[in-house]
Amino acid sequence: MSHCILVIEDNSLNLELVTDLLEAAGCIVCQARTAEEGLRLARNAKFDLVLMDLSLPGMDGLAATKVLKSDPLTLHLPVIAVTAHAMRGDHDTALRAGCDGYLTKPIDTKTFVAQVFQFFPGSNSPPSK
Ligand code: MN
Repeated sequence: MSHCILVIEDNSLNLELVTDLLEAAGCIVCQARTAEEGLRLARNAKFDLVLMDLSLPGMDGLAATKVLKSDPLTLHLPVIAVTAHAMRGDHDTALRAGCDGYLTKPIDTKTFVAQVFQFFPGSNSPPSK
């Protein structure tokens, strides 16, 4: 069965790149360009995972993650932060906000899909640090 992934990203180039990579790997991708749109979609459709850009117009990705993780409808959804903020402190901040994992931009097109897949529930791969 295909994995359904919600990608919340305001940068069009990043959004298209991530979408292309995941679709090439057989995933079904749903796109949102704002946190507000992403939250609406997450409540109304069934996804297996959320890729969350942390820097978004309006509500940011950390605030959106906190909303997802406080809503019984969505708290089970793995949320993976994807951000250019490669500082160590930002990693900790993302995990404290409830993110289940953390990937940094620019993404590595050769390893990105494998990195995402390790976060699916039931994956045998250990989560990255
Ligand atoms: Mn952004």
